[in-house]
Amino acid sequence: MDEQIPATEEQNFALTELGPGLKKVRRRRWWLWGVVLLYLPIMVPPVEMNWSLKATGIAFLLWYVLLFAAALYMALARCPHCGNYFHLHGLTYLPLRRCLHCQLHINADKLR
Ligand SMILES: [Zn+2]
Repeated sequence: MDEQIPATEEQNFALTELGPGLKKVRRRRWWLWGVVLLYLPIMVPPVEMNWSLKATGIAFLLWYVLLFAAALYMALARCPHCGNYFHLHGLTYLPLRRCLHCQLHINADKLR
């Protein structure tokens, strides 16, 4: 991580300029994690209350649609440095902590 620390004040300024864009990418990542965490609150009632298979399937489908939407929302986040999709490279979708194009770290604006 030490190699990411900017050497000059000029570089520090450039990284803080990226802050709002990186914050947007981070927020979209949290949306995806939020939907992943919604799985239990959505799926426990149908199982606990012995809902029909159809009703349980509808609850799962609802969660799955939310997951897909959150993943798409995250995938379409643009890198504030290079302008490309942060988590997409061609058809490759990798929710890593670095931009797949310019290797900008998700917390580059916070590293000092
Ligand atoms: Zn980038």
